[in-house]
Amino acid sequence: MKIHLLRTGTVRLKHSFLFPSRGVRRQLDLFLPGEWSEPVPIHCWAIEHDGRLLLVDSGETAGVKDVPFARFQVTPEQELPAAMAASGLALQDVSEVVLTHHHGDHVDGLIHVRAPVLIHEEELRHLRTAFPSVMRRVLRQPLPPYFAPRTFALDGGPFGAFARSRALSDDGRILAVGTPGHTPGHISVICIDDSGRHVMLAGDATDTLEQLLALRADAVAPDPKVHVATLEAIKAHCAQHPTVYLPSHDPQTAERLAGAITVA
Ligand SMILES: [Zn+2]
Ligand SMILES: [Zn+2]
Repeated sequence: MKIHLLRTGTVRLKHSFLFPSRGVRRQLDLFLPGEWSEPVPIHCWAIEHDGRLLLVDSGETAGVKDVPFARFQVTPEQELPAAMAASGLALQDVSEVVLTHHHGDHVDGLIHVRAPVLIHEEELRHLRTAFPSVMRRVLRQPLPPYFAPRTFALDGGPFGAFARSRALSDDGRILAVGTPGHTPGHISVICIDDSGRHVMLAGDATDTLEQLLALRADAVAPDPKVHVATLEAIKAHCAQHPTVYLPSHDPQTAERLAGAITVA
């Protein structure tokens, strides 16, 4: 198995996004003036395994528009095709794409992909409810007309500390696990690498390892309690089994993947 980290540009995030206040200010502060972070990466992944090439998310594109809490820096030369070429991979070899969740910086790169796209059924159901529809209009992020994913259920029973999972490969070495919070149907992908370690492609389950260890709910989670319960499950999993924890936007993700550095 080979796991490639793909980088499609960077984003600067408002401090109130990374370190939210509690209560009503949690989301309100996102729309008020504030400090900005240094640029953080926008990652997605490609997994070569058993003759297949599975993408986890598809990254951002240069056409992205800034939102009140995120300023994007993405050029056409940083989009998915170039990010894959930098790892010696070609788009036409992609077998399928699985999405951690439906936010623009994880799905916009789908414009380049012709392979089947898989999304957790609960994420798709949430996407069709009123609030996300309004937010897509406010944030000028319409669903693209070509977006026609296949859905999957987390019906494979528990895996480690996660209550719900589903195998994404025949040998069960690539799995989706339920990590709701950041969005209601958010999933993470766990790969059991050739040494038996778990490599957790965590999407936006948290922005950083620090946020996981602090058990801090993020600013956009619809229900912070659901998010914190997920963070507790991830921490429990990392305690049970050597796990390399890789959120999409953590500046340390590349180093941890390259060095197979597990959560202590
Ligand atoms: Zn997100
Ligand atoms: Zn993201």
